[in-house]
Amino acid sequence: MIYQDTKRLEQEEKRIGIEVIHHLREVDARKLFASLKYSSLFLYCTEELSYSEGGAQRRISTMRLLRDVPEYESKLKEGAVSVSTLSRVQSFLVQEKRRRKKTYSRDEKLELLGKIEGTSSKQTERVLAIVSPQSARIEKTRVLNEEETEIRFTVNREVMRKLERLKNLLGHKSKAQSYAGLVEELADLALKRLDPLGESSLKKSDLAKNAENSPSLPPMEMGKASSEKHTRYVPAQMKHLVWKRDQGRCTFVEPKTGRRCESRHALQLEHVRPFAMGGASSIENLTLHCVAHNQLAAIQAYGLEKMQQAFGV
Ligand SMILES: [Zn+2]
Repeated sequence: MIYQDTKRLEQEEKRIGIEVIHHLREVDARKLFASLKYSSLFLYCTEELSYSEGGAQRRISTMRLLRDVPEYESKLKEGAVSVSTLSRVQSFLVQEKRRRKKTYSRDEKLELLGKIEGTSSKQTERVLAIVSPQSARIEKTRVLNEEETEIRFTVNREVMRKLERLKNLLGHKSKAQSYAGLVEELADLALKRLDPLGESSLKKSDLAKNAENSPSLPPMEMGKASSEKHTRYVPAQMKHLVWKRDQGRCTFVEPKTGRRCESRHALQLEHVRPFAMGGASSIENLTLHCVAHNQLAAIQAYGLEKMQQAFGV
């Protein structure tokens, strides 16, 4: 009968869904996505496995929550909770940590899950809003057209006070009197200060010219300084040159296909020959890596077990 077959297939689908989550856990623990060109498990899921962004996020969040409360795997199988509910709870827990610095113990997680078990998604939202209205709110971005994106988020009184103070300080700039304009001004100010490719990272000097003429060759005095003393310290100018040479992108290249990681997010300077193994802080020995490829390099240099002990990766 067709409805029996459909029921059987639905059960099978659930079982496979859980199997996929098991595999994602392994791929995450061993940073296997990073051996390909991906800087995150999320990119691996959307690009390599072709999941939608929402689908990837739901599976990853569920995987993270089930790691702490494995007993909910059988409840997922029985249909007492869904992947959507579990992933929603996990994002709520992340917001609780970010916004209220609250970390839930395993028992607290179980207690919260107990409250939402068997409820609809609307009821789940209600329960979360009672526990913490602030963390239950979802940040939203919506692309309006090619030029504009709408961002909706909530700030607390303290942040609001800071924003008002900044408006006053930037009072001479009429643009900064709207929140969108203020964010633009602040973005410019922050980038000037933080972007290693920005002007302020390189004081008036001809180092930039040197970099353009021969990007891989350090100026003489810098090479000397780093070879004389084995130090992790990387001067701002050297950082600027490495950033410029690597075009502000992770330099990891997938060995099989030659595809380069495209991440520009949270890049770190990394010693190609590890510092602990005598690698110098020189332009030739420094490269840009995203967090995942930094961890992968460490796993390759020191072994997975040691890295898990050290960083819980
Ligand atoms: Zn990378």
